[in-house]
Amino acid sequence: MTPQTTSLPATAPAPRTARAIRNFIDGEFVDGVRGFDKIDPVDGSLIGQVHEAGAAEVDRAVAAARAALDGPWGRMSVGERARLLRGVADAIERRFDDLVAAEVGDTGKPETLARDLDVARAAANFRSFADTVSSAGLDSFLTELPGGRTALNYALRKPLGVVAIIVPWNLPLLLLTWKLAPALASGNTVVVKPSEETPSSATLLAEILAEAGVPDGVVNVVHGFGAGSAGELLTTHPGIDGVTFTGESSTGSAIMRAVAPRVRPVSFELGGKNAAVVFADADLDTAIAGLARSTYLNTGQVCLCTERIYVERAVFDDVAAGLAEQAARLRLGRPEDPATTTGPLISQAHRDKVRSYFELAQQEGATLLAGGGIPSFGDALDGGSWIEPTLWTGLDNSHRTVREEVFGPVAALIPFDTEEEAVALANDTDYGLAAVTWTSDLSRGHRVAQRMRVGMSWVNTWYLRDLRSPFGGVGLSGIGREGGHHSLEFYTEPTNVCVQL
Ligand code: NAD
Repeated sequence: MTPQTTSLPATAPAPRTARAIRNFIDGEFVDGVRGFDKIDPVDGSLIGQVHEAGAAEVDRAVAAARAALDGPWGRMSVGERARLLRGVADAIERRFDDLVAAEVGDTGKPETLARDLDVARAAANFRSFADTVSSAGLDSFLTELPGGRTALNYALRKPLGVVAIIVPWNLPLLLLTWKLAPALASGNTVVVKPSEETPSSATLLAEILAEAGVPDGVVNVVHGFGAGSAGELLTTHPGIDGVTFTGESSTGSAIMRAVAPRVRPVSFELGGKNAAVVFADADLDTAIAGLARSTYLNTGQVCLCTERIYVERAVFDDVAAGLAEQAARLRLGRPEDPATTTGPLISQAHRDKVRSYFELAQQEGATLLAGGGIPSFGDALDGGSWIEPTLWTGLDNSHRTVREEVFGPVAALIPFDTEEEAVALANDTDYGLAAVTWTSDLSRGHRVAQRMRVGMSWVNTWYLRDLRSPFGGVGLSGIGREGGHHSLEFYTEPTNVCVQL
């Protein structure tokens, strides 16, 4: 994406027309080397000017994080850290409305969604990892030695160190706190690089964390882009001890290359091309409502969203008609309108990408059951990055539109005849993040769910999450699992102590 850059004055007073969004380093808001515009996806207006961090700012952030590891933060007990994290959750709830406004401003998503999902989950993430770290066990073994002697082995969990957290724009605060909370619970210090599209909630969170008593330097936020900017400066920095990243698979690949020379660990939550399978024995009303949610939530911009729907032939027409009707009923509109179900895409650039798949689908022979175009509002919203919720038939697994992640409000409906075929079609992908099985047959539900080659397999539901359970993907969808004690495995380095008794 080509940034629109402007020069910031050395002292960088807040621009008259829009807010200035600064880096947060060692407890202070810090100017960047350049400014770039944050555009409101609802109507294309300018809502903020972001201070892009250069090499000096990234250096300072990493140095501050390193120094903080050796300060009072590094000496805190697990219990003290857990108490602090619960205090952060309380502080998020006190600033709930401000965080909703920041998230809605950057993304244009419906306010109801930001409240119910994004900001609510941010607080829940801190509480959940405060609990996880408080109850985390350690391995210990009494080892029997020849001659009747024994040795005691026990493992300590130490923080990984300075962790780089790089996150995308689709659920900015939720995904950031999903990584930040376990990183802090485990005693790390961090440098966060939010998406260039969604700088606001991370910046506000930095302020909230400081107010809640997180010491200076423990959480630093640098703004900018990926390649050639803050993202690359951070991942190639010799002072970081690991990278936790959520975003596109190709970016994950670039980050792996960036950390390879210094052999740093990575945790990757990447893209998906998720399948749903609908059997004829499913409760069709529930399945259709679930498919509408899994295809169109957040305008299809959730890594877990369904983009391939395999339907048993006997009910194909019913499911197609029902889902097309649900797509047509979605209400695009201003975020503050409680009737709005669907916001814009994040940017014009992302809309260009999604539209290119709409055009490709036509070339590949798709039949449109819903949407397929750009909506017209006849007012300021026409300057935004809106697109219609869309549904295709007439495609199969050989088509690019069924193989590549679109990351928009669209799915392809494809018929199948047997359970074996459904599993084979669902698993015929380079990705492997999530799958959903819709059936009333309990045995079949378990059988099919277990055969899905994914990190998360749902039956008769979607996006129902217990934060203690493992989250992540296989294949192009990621490396590692986060959630509950799985997160602690990434954010800590075990040290084994062996004492001969
Ligand atoms: P992206 O990969 O373009 O960007 C994500 C972040 O990485 C941004 O902060 C960006 O600035 C940074 N970045 C980009 N290039 C970089 C580089 N070379 N070095 C370092 N940092 C770099 O992803 P996006 O477009 O922001 O988000 C959408 C993608 O995220 C989709 O593919 C979606 O499936 C995926 N995603 C996955 C999950 C999951 O949990 N598996 C969750 C949400 C989103």
